[in-house]
Amino acid sequence: MRRLLLLAVVLASACRERAPHRREFDGQAAFRYIETQVAFGPRIPGTEAHQRMAAWLDSMLRQRADTLVVQSWTHVTAAGDSLPLTNFIARFKPGASKRILFLAHWDSRPTADSPVSHDSTKPVPGANDGGSGVAVLLGVADALKRAPPEIGVDLLFVDGEDFGDFTKTPKDVLIGSRYYAAHPVAGPQPLYAVLFDLVADKDLQIYEEGNSLVGAPEVVELVWNTARDLGYAGTFVAQPRHTLIDDHLELQKVGIRAIDVVDFDYPSWHTIEDTIDKVSAASLGIVGDLAVTLVRREGS
Ligand SMILES: [Zn+2]
Repeated sequence: MRRLLLLAVVLASACRERAPHRREFDGQAAFRYIETQVAFGPRIPGTEAHQRMAAWLDSMLRQRADTLVVQSWTHVTAAGDSLPLTNFIARFKPGASKRILFLAHWDSRPTADSPVSHDSTKPVPGANDGGSGVAVLLGVADALKRAPPEIGVDLLFVDGEDFGDFTKTPKDVLIGSRYYAAHPVAGPQPLYAVLFDLVADKDLQIYEEGNSLVGAPEVVELVWNTARDLGYAGTFVAQPRHTLIDDHLELQKVGIRAIDVVDFDYPSWHTIEDTIDKVSAASLGIVGDLAVTLVRREGS
């Protein structure tokens, strides 16, 4: 009896702390955003599909954000080719000094050169690799358009993450995040940044990433604790696993507390099998709910 009473008191105080959770993020809509991207074809810098994708992103973000900053430049590759690249920064409450930043890459990889690839002459369709991070950020933009945030939020879509070879031509990868780090938008830096990459696998398990734990351990703790509170401890596994070179490192280099939310256990990574049947609205719903919740809690 006494224990029950105690439990009731604990529950009552927990309820006072926080209103019941309402999921604002629409996983089905985010899934359709992946379908749209895949339908453009591989979003390889320099191709028509890449141009069409840029025009779509531009129009989607203008309809949702308070302001859109577009950064366009030409990158000369190690092979001497000129690539037209574009970053998009969709800003909510651009004047707010307290802000957070979410990022994802919107390009897709020109070559399916995974060690397990069956055909490395073809490009990666990029349903998960490229498509999923964009879909999460667009779904967040939908939620913030419906109910504006209390804090500032920047959604950064970087180009040229996956163009080159990560060991042989390191200047031809992470190009957009490196460009953003050298040309940040004016005003205060975000409290922290979260990169979303490979986050729609049907079999989603997101482990803590090594370079995130080194560069911004308190942000990893915040994100995984938030996921646990939301009931997603089975997806956001609170253990380290892979250590990755990804866009978050370029932001860390200029002092931004950036982490990588990534499911690197994805058999179709950098293969021609990275297609729409490998990703799910349910996985997108979990990651998107987490992202929106981070915004709401920071503002409460
Ligand atoms: Zn990739």
